[in-house]
Amino acid sequence: MIHALIDDRLLVRFRSLLNGAKRIVLTAHLGPDGDALGSTLGLCRVLRRLGKDARVVLPDMPPRALTFLPTIHEAVVYTRSEDRARELMSQAQLILCLDFNTLRRIDKLAELVTASTAPRVLIDHHLDPTTQEFDLLISYPAASSTCELVFRVLLQLQLTKLIDRLAAQCLYTGMMTDTGNFTFSCEDPELYEIQSILMRRHIDKQYLYNLAMNTHSVDSLRLRGYALSERMELCLERGASLITLPLDVLERFNYQRGDVEGLVNEPLTIPEVYWSVLMREEAGRVKVSCRSQGDFDVSVMCQEHFNGGGHKNAAGGELYMSMAEAVELYRSVLESIPIVDAAQAEPNNNENEQ
Ligand code: 5GP
Ligand code: MN
Repeated sequence: MIHALIDDRLLVRFRSLLNGAKRIVLTAHLGPDGDALGSTLGLCRVLRRLGKDARVVLPDMPPRALTFLPTIHEAVVYTRSEDRARELMSQAQLILCLDFNTLRRIDKLAELVTASTAPRVLIDHHLDPTTQEFDLLISYPAASSTCELVFRVLLQLQLTKLIDRLAAQCLYTGMMTDTGNFTFSCEDPELYEIQSILMRRHIDKQYLYNLAMNTHSVDSLRLRGYALSERMELCLERGASLITLPLDVLERFNYQRGDVEGLVNEPLTIPEVYWSVLMREEAGRVKVSCRSQGDFDVSVMCQEHFNGGGHKNAAGGELYMSMAEAVELYRSVLESIPIVDAAQAEPNNNENEQ
């Protein structure tokens, strides 16, 4: 039995917004991951089957590894087709914002969303949404993924009959990638009831796992090996790991977006490491990714020091400085972390979320 998690009053409003709109744009965060793409593409497909003129508009390109997702080639990408993205946003009668909690996370698309008069609905599982930016917030941080929330919305609106095999593949992929293939943030038994409904749409779990989570290019695999062997710096008495990937290293391995996805988790397999940072240089900035275990809160660290935020055990930020300056900043944060007595260190429970 899947209970009605989402407040009925929110769904009444969502239904009336849907009824009043023909042209609908769905969007998701910069550097879209499996959940961002799965939720927008899955819901878009269902809305089209409902007779809507729905389109996915993304701030930037999806990672190569996720280009197998059904209907992904129909998505309009701002960095590649700016005019088309502008046109769709300006014509939209409803804008659905999925898998992010603040318009800052959609980069240049934020301007277009703000310029539009269409109502904005948030469907998301990140903490602390910027409430004033949205007309309706369907925000449930305890959910495993935005894909789970999309499924629950459709279930409560009695629209699951419109979830066909392709939409089911999208929604399942987001639940799988955001939970590390059902390893963390997936204690809710109802998630498996949802999974069983999606499996009745004849999705192939192994095929989706292999493509979304178990496929690397030669360059990506070599870059990961190099990063762990040559670019990982440990400070075990403070439970810390830092991986730095400067531009010259990324160029040597022909870095493409998504090539180091999940790499920041690897140091957490060392029992003494309970927080892990990955710094990747981009033109003019350093992208920071953090993961932790147990009570160690990296979202607070990212807010306070790395110009970002996120969840307790998975957060990130961006630093507009050189890699050397970013590393210096990291070292000052590291020094503020108390030295732990190894005997009292927390067990390695691999808690994590996206
Ligand atoms: P990742 O490390 O996979 O890029 O991001 C993990 C989580 O950290 C994301 O789901 C998001 O909640 C948060 N996050 C990553 N980068 C940023 C950022 O630049 N700003 C904010 N506010 N959150 C971020
Ligand atoms: Mn997500």
